[in-house]
Amino acid sequence: MRTHQIVLLPGDGIGPEIISVAKELLEIVSVKFNFELKFVEKKIGGSAIDATGNPLPEDTLQTCRESDAILFAAIGDPRFDILPREKRPETGLLSLREGLKLFANIRPVKIIPSLIESSTLKREVIEKVDLIVVRELTGGIYFGKPKGRVKTEIEERAFNTMTYSNKEIEQIARVAFELSNKRRNKLCSVDKANVLDVSQLWRESVDKVSKDYPNIEVNHLYVDNAAMQLIKDPSQFDVILTGNLFGDILSDEAAMITGSIGMLPSASLSKNGPGLFEPVHGSAPDIAGLDKANPLAMVLSAAMMLKIGLKEVKAAEALEKVVDSVLGKGFSTSDIASKESIEVGCKAMGKELVKELNAI
Ligand code: NAD
Repeated sequence: MRTHQIVLLPGDGIGPEIISVAKELLEIVSVKFNFELKFVEKKIGGSAIDATGNPLPEDTLQTCRESDAILFAAIGDPRFDILPREKRPETGLLSLREGLKLFANIRPVKIIPSLIESSTLKREVIEKVDLIVVRELTGGIYFGKPKGRVKTEIEERAFNTMTYSNKEIEQIARVAFELSNKRRNKLCSVDKANVLDVSQLWRESVDKVSKDYPNIEVNHLYVDNAAMQLIKDPSQFDVILTGNLFGDILSDEAAMITGSIGMLPSASLSKNGPGLFEPVHGSAPDIAGLDKANPLAMVLSAAMMLKIGLKEVKAAEALEKVVDSVLGKGFSTSDIASKESIEVGCKAMGKELVKELNAI
């Protein structure tokens, strides 16, 4: 029997509530599709600070390195906002991404028909949206050196460096081209090549990789235009490829097209090691422990883990299907509820999902 080692990282806030829903579904779906999942749970973020003083204990990182995939919920706890940056929960996640060399962040944005009214955009603009943002995650301006602050007698100056090598660009471009190959064969690369040298290299490197994918239609957009096009006509996009800073902004913009942060999964991938699969949202401290969290982004992250990380495609599709059917029957948590929906809490949503999955 195929066996996969999974590290579960519940983290903080609503994390434990939503990950337990995903775990129960994973256990059922693995039995249905004849494979075994071996779970080990580890601490990260605020819960790890409470237990060990460190937001990413070495034992957590090492266990993640030895796994086949990592399912992560969320970190963040206002109790720790007074700590210096390196000791905060968020540093645990950044260190994990760095430690696992997770250079490719993948965020699918797909409209769920029953939730179309949750968006602030018009139905006719968004109803066909089905896109993926591929963001470079370990380079660019967030990591570039030199960086820092310099004080002189007359002023204080701060600076960061946006830097990419052709190798880094080609590596992330290949991820995007491969994804595009399995989709609608359209790739839009986003840069600021009219102003930035680093973007000119970005464009040249993407064009170089595109020669290996002659079936994929490539276009380049400047980031300001891409931001406009995402609001004006988001269904024109299939795969959007971009660097760390532009990707950070555009992926949040793209996420809001759906109108519901509690619905969006993501994957962060390395070259050869295990991938990290996580909802886009944070630990939602305002609703933690109140049984109000929407577990669906977590469940869809588990589906991404099955599909991309473990190649258990049928099991992944089964999870996606149960999410659709539960929403189709009108069940929703308060963040996505409309007048017509049957509002339920996190646990009850989990029960409905289990019922649907058992019926497949
Ligand atoms: P957030 O995503 O936690 O919450 C934003 C809003 O969305 C809140 O009103 C929250 O209640 C709601 N929300 C989020 N997820 C939801 C869900 N599944 N169901 C229902 N409602 C949901 O962002 P924030 O408030 O800016 O940050 C809170 C903490 O999370 C901070 O400590 C921040 O650093 C951390 N954070 C972590 C991650 C991560 O773990 N990847 C990402 C973003 C923020």
